[in-house]
Formats: sequence, structure tokens, C-alpha cells
Amino acid sequence: MNKNGFRHEMVDHHAVGVSSFATDNPFRVVQKQVEQAVELLQLDPALHELLRWPQREIHVTLPVRMDDGTTKVFQGFRVQYNNARGPCKGGIRFAADETIDLVRALAAWMTWKCALLDIPLGGGKGGVVCDPTKLSRGEKERLARAYIRAIGHDIGLLKDVPAPDMNTNPEIMGWMVDEYAALHGHNEFGMITGKPLSLGGSLGREDATGRGVMITVREAAKKIGLNLEGARMVVQGYGNVGSFSAVLLEELGCKLVGVADVSGAWSNPNGINARELQAYARKNGGLIRGFPGLGQEIQNDEKEPAVLELPCEILVPAAKEGQIGAHNVPRIKPRILAEGANGPTLPEADPILYQNGVYVIPDFLCNAGGVTVSYFEMVQNTYNYYWDLDAIRRRLEQKMVTAFEAVHKEAQERKVHNRLAAYLVAITRVVQAMQARGWA
Ligand code: NAD
Repeated sequence: MNKNGFRHEMVDHHAVGVSSFATDNPFRVVQKQVEQAVELLQLDPALHELLRWPQREIHVTLPVRMDDGTTKVFQGFRVQYNNARGPCKGGIRFAADETIDLVRALAAWMTWKCALLDIPLGGGKGGVVCDPTKLSRGEKERLARAYIRAIGHDIGLLKDVPAPDMNTNPEIMGWMVDEYAALHGHNEFGMITGKPLSLGGSLGREDATGRGVMITVREAAKKIGLNLEGARMVVQGYGNVGSFSAVLLEELGCKLVGVADVSGAWSNPNGINARELQAYARKNGGLIRGFPGLGQEIQNDEKEPAVLELPCEILVPAAKEGQIGAHNVPRIKPRILAEGANGPTLPEADPILYQNGVYVIPDFLCNAGGVTVSYFEMVQNTYNYYWDLDAIRRRLEQKMVTAFEAVHKEAQERKVHNRLAAYLVAITRVVQAMQARGWA
């Protein structure tokens, strides 16, 4: 029980175990990926064990007063996967199908992502099991505040720094920073990122992930000798990541020839105006259906989305995890696969993409622009001095290019695919910090 009298439990992950051993369990996917890297790096078993499990998990039960006067009880998690390189960092998700294994997996990926970008932070993630579409604004606010009251002594600028993620946004971060201030008796803007600008948010956060996608695609194109002028791109998911990736790649000359979101999928070899499509979606509740010039509607099956198989030079999955697997990978042949989404490719597909000569920019490199600008937000909060947009973009560019080069070099030297190379670079850095601390 915490001091408010509610459950606040630290969990021994070995006792809890992994809830399902199916290969599509995202945490099993993470553990497999770690295994591969550990084998190549010939790490000792203690280090492997430390990398395979979160350091710490917090499970909380949250009573929230609903608008109709009843109380509803929600489950929440915060996973602090590894803090060897610095305070944990990672978003908070509000989702009906949230599971502890998904949060663990996402927290692990944050650990590798921060290490790969050489950001002095570890990895974390949080989630509340709820259906946000059924919550009023007031109920969301009370839920957000209850979550921070429950975990508020276990997070903070020097411990663990949350951020927006699925179904959470700057407004919710504003409530959270306020609740944290009430709990601790002082403002600490750097305890959470993705805040509104008026509360210590950073310029450049909105398009940061898409900008990172664009930068890594541009660098990959140089490596494989692909001219981006007129290069065909296909984007699955036209939300924050997909739309900004498309708009910024369009500025480099790429042509959007296929696009999908929850409302459908379309193919148009003549090109779709990415910027106008973004503006349309914003006015249309986030959906692209109805935009003139989308072209031919194609099948948008959940399991085998046709959009991923359209002929193109650049494919950007920017919707959800698990889109590319053994069942469809032989038909997916872009020159560059830029993983805007987290976990769009299942491990079984990696060797096939590699054999087929697809240049994969793995998720935790490709979509790391967001966390990089979140880190910049923490830095600005700590300095209490704010940078202009040019400074943010310049620093983001430098971080992304450096990380891209490190992965490319590792892949070339070890003759492995880019995802494994990215793991090797990231895990080596985490291990160096763990060893320097004397953990193993
Ligand atoms: P978003 O909610 O803004 O957009 C998601 C898009 O995917 C929407 O257009 C939605 O309609 C579409 N979509 C959902 N299911 C689909 C389906 N079955 N087929 C086709 N389209 C579908 O989310 P986002 O912030 O752009 O995040 C997208 C992905 O990128 C997620 O995997 C997220 O974890 C990852 N990511 C986001 C950020 C960020 O800064 N926003 C950073 C890193 C990674």
C-alpha cells in the first residue's frame, strides 16, 4: 500500500514470468533479440540475465471518480528496464489491451534506443489499462493525476522521466507535471517531457520523429546510391510519424505512391500530395479517407496489408507492430525499409529482408528523433534556458547521423543485418556502463 492507501507493488519479475510464450509476445521478441546479440558479443551469463529482465516494475491500482459519481478501478504499470546509463526514459500509454509484457518490451526498446542515440538515459515505459475513447476529458485528467500520485515518488528528473505515447498527449503531460508539483511541493518540469510549450515543452517535438525518419532515409539512400528525386515512397499509418515522414521526404523529392490508415489503403502511381494529405487528415479527425487524389483503393487487411507490397523504393511502416512476418515478407521489396513504427517487423522476417537486399533502418534507430528531442527538452528544463528551432534541428540532425553511421559501420564490419548491428552497438554501450558500475 502507498501512503494514499492504494496498491503500489514492486514486482519480482522472475516470479511473475512472461505471461505467454507465443512468439508474437513482444517481450519474448525482445528477449530473443537480446540473446542473439549476447551470443555474438560473448557476454557472461550475469550480464545476459541483467539485459533480459527489467530492473524494476511498479504495478498500481488506481481508483478514479467517474462523471456519474461511481468509482472505477484501473490497473497501471511503470517498468524501469535499465538505468545503467542514466535515468529511465519512456512514454505512458492509455490502452485497453495494455499488458505488462508489452510495457516491458517497449521499456527494453527504449533502453537500446537511448543507448544507440548516445543519450545519457536508460529505458522505461508506463501504461494504464483503459479505453480512452470511453473516458471524458475530466475522467482522463483524474486518471492521469491518480497515476502520478501512485508512482510519483518513483519517477523524476534523476530517476525516470515519462512522456506522451499512445493515447496520451501534451495536455495530459501538463496535468501530470502539475500533480507531481503538488506531491513534491515544487515545480520540476524536467520530470516529464512532451509538455505544452507554456509548461517547459520544447520546440521541434511535433515533427521530431518524422524528421528522424527523413534523416535516416536520406543517409541510407546515400549508402546505397539511391537518388531520392522521384523515388517512390509508401507510408502505412498517416498519424504523427507517417505524415511528417512523408511530408519531409517529399521535400527531398520523394513521391508518395501508396498510403494507408485505419480508414483504408490507396495506391496512386502518379503521386499523392503528402503535405495536402496531412492538412486534410488533421481537419478530418485524423483520417485520410475522402482526400481527393488518393487514387485506387486497395485491400487493407489487418494481417496482410496490400499497401506494404506496393512497388516502391522507400517503405515506411508507421502504424503498428507486427506488420511484416514470414507470411508476407517475400513480397515486400523496397530498397529502403524505414521503420517509423515500433516493432513493425517480426524477427523471422529479418534474414529474408537481408537476403533480398532491402536496406532496413531498424525502428529504434529510425524513430529515435522523438526521444532525442525529448532529451533536449529535459536539458532545456534543467538549464531553464530554451533553444530556438534551428538549434534543435541542428542537434537532432547531428545525433541521428552519428547513430546511423555507427549502425551502418557495425553492420558492414560484422557482415550482419542492420537490426542486429544496432543491437550490438546499443547493448555494448549499456554493458560498458553496467561493467563500469561493477554490476558484473
Ligand atoms: P498516431 O496515432 O499519430 O498514428 C497512427 C496511424 O496509424 C494513424 O494514421 C492510424 O489510422 C494508422 N493505423 C492504425 N492501425 C492501422 C492499420 N491496421 N492499418 C493502417 N494504418 C493503421 O501514432 P504515431 O505517434 O504516428 O505512432 C505510430 C507508430 O510510431 C507507433 O508504433 C508508435 O509507437 C511509433 N512511434 C511514435 C513516436 C512519436 O513520436 N509519435 C516515436 C517513436 C515511435
